[in-house]
Amino acid sequence: MKTFQTMSSLYAPTLKEDPADADLASHRLLLRAGMIRKTAAGLYSYLPLAWRSLEKIEDIIRDEMDTHGAQEVLLPILTPAELWEESGRYDAYGPELMRLSDRHDRDFVLGPTHEETMTDLVRGELRSYKQLPVNLYQIQQKYRDELRPRFGLMRGREFIMKDGYSFDADAEGMQRSFDTMYDAYSGVCDRCGIKALPVAADSGQIGGSTSIEFMALAEAGEAALVYCPDCGYAADEEAATVVISVEDGPETHDHELECVETPGVHTIAELAGLFDVPEAACRKAVALVDGEGRPVVCIVPGDHELNEVKASHAFGGYHLMSDEELESFGLFKGCIGPVGLPEGVSCVCDVSLRGSLSWLVGANRPESHYLGARPGRDFEPDAWEDLASAKASDACPVCGKPLAAARGIEMGQIFQLGDKYSRSMGATFLDRDGKERYFQMGCYGIGVTRTLAAVVEQCHDDSGIVWPVSVAPFEVEVVALDTADDLVWPAAQQVADQLVEAGVQVLLDDRKERPGVKFNDADLLGLPYQVILGKKAVAKGMCEVKDRATGERREVAIDEVVVEVG
Ligand code: ATP
Ligand code: MG
Ligand code: MG
Ligand code: MG
Repeated sequence: MKTFQTMSSLYAPTLKEDPADADLASHRLLLRAGMIRKTAAGLYSYLPLAWRSLEKIEDIIRDEMDTHGAQEVLLPILTPAELWEESGRYDAYGPELMRLSDRHDRDFVLGPTHEETMTDLVRGELRSYKQLPVNLYQIQQKYRDELRPRFGLMRGREFIMKDGYSFDADAEGMQRSFDTMYDAYSGVCDRCGIKALPVAADSGQIGGSTSIEFMALAEAGEAALVYCPDCGYAADEEAATVVISVEDGPETHDHELECVETPGVHTIAELAGLFDVPEAACRKAVALVDGEGRPVVCIVPGDHELNEVKASHAFGGYHLMSDEELESFGLFKGCIGPVGLPEGVSCVCDVSLRGSLSWLVGANRPESHYLGARPGRDFEPDAWEDLASAKASDACPVCGKPLAAARGIEMGQIFQLGDKYSRSMGATFLDRDGKERYFQMGCYGIGVTRTLAAVVEQCHDDSGIVWPVSVAPFEVEVVALDTADDLVWPAAQQVADQLVEAGVQVLLDDRKERPGVKFNDADLLGLPYQVILGKKAVAKGMCEVKDRATGERREVAIDEVVVEVG
């Protein structure tokens, strides 16, 4: 990577004013610092400064992946539709998938992720258990036709991702690969200067955390999180969903939820035992029918017997009640009526459910439990916003202490896939006994461009970006204030040379601009250190070193700058 750059020849068109339509700090500052430009909705061009930071993030990811046993490859972005048809995702993935065809009318997709291509790559050639495990990753552009591309690099339609895939012989191996990637991801977050929280994520499976998201903590984050300050439990809001019980009444939903028949299970304790999850992770929904035959669902935590009594009381023979009436039964108002719910479903929540809306379900089948239902995906999210804000009052499912709420940016996510893709795509190997078996797979994604945005989101102030050294475009900006001065200009060049020689990456502001302009730009670009050379100081053989993060300025002898910031 180039270690020296003059500002006069750098392509970084900075903006004095805040751009319109850029509410998020990272979006605004990356635009203002001349690092990114929008080409079209969700499509960004990375200018030299951003590209340097992105390459540094990529190198950190590479290093963590390589030292944790993975190997880098590069697969085509253009993906034959047949592979996606094999896995069943060609239809299932929905409108986010970018589809196109070639001149022969053959269908393709622009890869939003590469489970299919990667599985296809190894099937037939990775044949023996002796060759396992194998972990392959790539860093490339991904394409998703996001409904609302926004927030600059946060949610693009084209973005850079590192995606990796592990192939193991059995579940234990898969767990080991997963744990290793967990370490690698923690390393990436630390080294990029990101304060991240690994949280349990919804994986649509029962119990255990088979998927973890790495959340960069930020007010502006799109993801709502809960965490337990006491025992360290953390989950994204969606993952709080574990088990949902629904009884009686007609089937009404058309959502793809896993429904498990559980004859004879009637209490929360039995549910928890059956699915091997904490009791606090279980909720029961008692589905009833109102006077006009419309299903009414009452969701109540706690003891089943009691809930049934409450439900029938509350509905007085299964009729919907007014808010006042509901309140008189201690039920939460505002959740009644068909607002925001799938057609034909009404719902009432128990008071004690405030904030526990993840357990909501709108479907009825006797003696069954739904797994992994969540608002937002299975229901209109708006209806539940009030409740969502009360989430923090929930009890921790592990230790029962109160949970706290936070917001985060999903930087990365790791999954245990099991044989989902190896089975649908027929990817097998021969085990020790010569028996054909499906690979146990894991997949691991981290957004490179989103990580850049997350860094800026966490590291900025009113004047601009405050780069952590590890991902800063350059490490030091040498600010020559009087470039026409006989002493200042040679001194600035000398300092720059010395720093470069010491292995420091230097940006030299050699422009014929007023000091105010240079100071503002230096703070906006936010390199970790500024070495400022003005007439007065240079005459004494001195310059000023400013630490961008603390704002601290110190007079330093020109000869000693390297010692100070090297
Ligand atoms: P989100 O929940 O924000 O839509 P996702 O769960 O769909 O993200 P994954 O499929 O887990 O994303 O992809 C792995 C990583 O790729 C994410 O953790 C994120 O860092 C990044 N990523 C996903 N979608 C985008 C996007 N539209 N723009 C930029 N980065 C993205
Ligand atoms: Mg997404
Ligand atoms: Mg996500
Ligand atoms: Mg994800």
